[in-house]
Amino acid sequence: MSTIFSKILSGEIPSDTVYEDEQCIAFRDINPVAPTHVLVIPRKEIPRLDQMKIEDEALVGHLMRVATLVAKQEGLEDFRLLVNNGAGAGQTVFHLHLHVIGGRPVAWPPG
Ligand code: AMP
Repeated sequence: MSTIFSKILSGEIPSDTVYEDEQCIAFRDINPVAPTHVLVIPRKEIPRLDQMKIEDEALVGHLMRVATLVAKQEGLEDFRLLVNNGAGAGQTVFHLHLHVIGGRPVAWPPG
């Protein structure tokens, strides 16, 4: 089932894109929780992290590396990388995405 992120990938819905390549794009979250809040998403539709397959391992690793590139691009030395897996964990868009959050101190444990 397609999500709003598929529409961002197809260009149907605009996004504030900060990085893209053949495997993924990264764009600013529309409802940021910190001065930097970027989402890194694969072009491939994987609804949730726990639905990734063995053949997605390199892709998910790539998403994590891109997250570090985006953080650097944003001038962040420290940042939080977060995945909500499932509605009970706060997932609202069922297309795998990594939240890159930084630019302010972030508390632990998370709420
Ligand atoms: P999650 O709750 O982990 O599924 O995260 C989904 C994120 O997508 C939320 O932080 C939303 O603010 C964000 N979001 C939803 N629609 C858009 C959009 N059109 N452009 C950018 N971010 C969005």
